[in-house]
Amino acid sequence: MATVSGLESFQFQAETKQLLHLMIHSLYTQREIFLRELISNASDALDKLRFEALTNPEMVENDHKYEIRLKPDLANRTLTISDTGIGMSRQELIDHIGTIARSGTREMRKRIQESQSAEAFADLIGQFGVGFYSAFMVADKVTIITRRAGETSATQWESAGDGSYTLAEAERSGCGTDITLHLKQPDEENGIEDYTDRWKLSMVVHKYSDFIPFPIIYEGPAQEPGEPETKEIKIETKTLNSMKPLWTRKRSEVSDSDYNDFYKHLSNDWTEPLKVLPLKAEGTFELDALLFIPSQAPYDLFYHGSDFGLRLYAKRVMVMEKCEDLLPRYLRFVKGVVDSSDLPLNISRQRLQQDRHITQIRKWLVRKLLDVLAEMQEKEKEKYLKFWDAFGRALKEGVGTEYEHKDKLLPLLLFESSHDPKELTTLKSYVERMKAEQTDILYLTGESRKVLENSPHLEGVRQKGYEVLYLSDPVDELVVQHLHEFEGKRLKSVTKGRVDLGTEEEKKQQEEQVKKKEEEYAEFLKASQKKLDEYVKQIRVSTRLVDSPACLVTEEHEYSPQLERLLQKGKGGGPKQRRIMELNPDHPIIKGLYERFKANHEDAVLGDSIELLFELALVAEGSEIADPVRLNRLTLDLLKKSVQG
Ligand code: ADP
Ligand code: MG
Repeated sequence: MATVSGLESFQFQAETKQLLHLMIHSLYTQREIFLRELISNASDALDKLRFEALTNPEMVENDHKYEIRLKPDLANRTLTISDTGIGMSRQELIDHIGTIARSGTREMRKRIQESQSAEAFADLIGQFGVGFYSAFMVADKVTIITRRAGETSATQWESAGDGSYTLAEAERSGCGTDITLHLKQPDEENGIEDYTDRWKLSMVVHKYSDFIPFPIIYEGPAQEPGEPETKEIKIETKTLNSMKPLWTRKRSEVSDSDYNDFYKHLSNDWTEPLKVLPLKAEGTFELDALLFIPSQAPYDLFYHGSDFGLRLYAKRVMVMEKCEDLLPRYLRFVKGVVDSSDLPLNISRQRLQQDRHITQIRKWLVRKLLDVLAEMQEKEKEKYLKFWDAFGRALKEGVGTEYEHKDKLLPLLLFESSHDPKELTTLKSYVERMKAEQTDILYLTGESRKVLENSPHLEGVRQKGYEVLYLSDPVDELVVQHLHEFEGKRLKSVTKGRVDLGTEEEKKQQEEQVKKKEEEYAEFLKASQKKLDEYVKQIRVSTRLVDSPACLVTEEHEYSPQLERLLQKGKGGGPKQRRIMELNPDHPIIKGLYERFKANHEDAVLGDSIELLFELALVAEGSEIADPVRLNRLTLDLLKKSVQG
């Protein structure tokens, strides 16, 4: 078949080694999926070649056959999976097979160590795109001979999965890849079956790969294994799959398990999708689409540069994987295929972005998806919560970018709320529960629900019986930056600006009281402010406190302390804001301090106390302490005094 020269040895990356070890030793179920993985790679390689050939027709022969062959060799106990796809150059072999190509290898190692069950591990194999290595579940040795389209020489790769592999020059007629598995002995106890068996192969192909749009051809002995061998073995060729692209078929014609298998092929995710969405458009544009909403988020969903999930086809030919122009970023988790009849086959990236059809398709897809989610929210509550758990954060990202479909997006958002300790609420339900005199949707942002629940800022609000949304996800800061109102109700932070509660009458009364108190306390407030000038730009009388002596607030237009911290961590840092401190004039501590101030403006206790109150207010809202050394000393002094009586 092939001649080989110039053998060179290489070590696998540490992560790859570890993975291989686990693959060989710990995965005892479902070994047959190796075939799905290898066929899936072959199919991708054929897709890529077909696409490259559109702009580079000289790359392939006129009558190039796009196909996959399964060639068992009973005597040598090997199975070869051959494709006539794009192939790999020597460097591509090293980059794609010798290393784990995807980012996040550290994350992956961590997850591998954490994965307890075989099932969890199987999940990982899918998620991290290490499908090729599944070959070592059934083979003691794997040989690849591959030739990149456009190149004249081929390369051989070989490994026993033991930490190293070899590369050598080889020959191959035409481009494509042959992967030869030197199969382990069948071993029922360990779930190793005979993968040279025609029926077995045909069964596995049918089960997982029937929809692959290229012929998968069995090329092997015609007689059943076990039958007495005749002198001459007759070689039979037979196409095992139906090849019909699933996305062009009616929903009623396709079984759930076919959809699920297709999803797995597309997504590298081994769990079943949460929702399958076959779509068809006719009229201004024509397209067939098959979208999937996964049931779990990929590990890298919130990493910078995480992949988009749609493949773009033009008249059944794949023109782009991970297409970024079909959906907005906040819907990047949706997987599937969009097949348009209106696009030219050789469209470039740039042209695609500006293409009128793509803009229309994108709008249409977003609408469909948001509608489906709304329907799920209404009719399949459990399912929607599961969806929200996995992808709610992504959806929230859309609040800042989705203008056109904002009215569809906002009702989908769920928030934690003081209304219920567990159950999440929509904005709509919040508004329905609002008190008659309540004008704003109140919220509080911070580190965690626990910190928020105990925030002093809520005391007044709680006394009035008003509901507050607890926003503890960093992305919530972004949401409230862009979400100013819902159904005519303003969103208002209970830590920003003034908080006036109650009826018009009550508000007026309160205002007068505050004014009076501030006049009375004026000098005291000024002296305190001076003491904290570095951190605080104003000290004033509070309307929101009941049980606590003090709290910190920001002005309406300023960043919340959480956002400030996030910005400061970012590149170039952010501004450091001075806060506003509010005091509760009815609190015994404040009253006592004021009395001492009246008696002696220079009383040293005043300065220490106001500093302590400031630091404690930072602690209460979950912020960083301004001066830990000083806080430590002040607290110990206090403790000493109280112990000494
Ligand atoms: P994934 O398919 O998720 O990328 P795999 O481990 O299955 O992960 O494959 C790794 C890479 O090896 C592929 O992305 C591809 O670049 C390359 N590869 C694997 N099989 C083939 C093949 N038959 N033809 C060309 N390239 C292949
Ligand atoms: Mg693969």
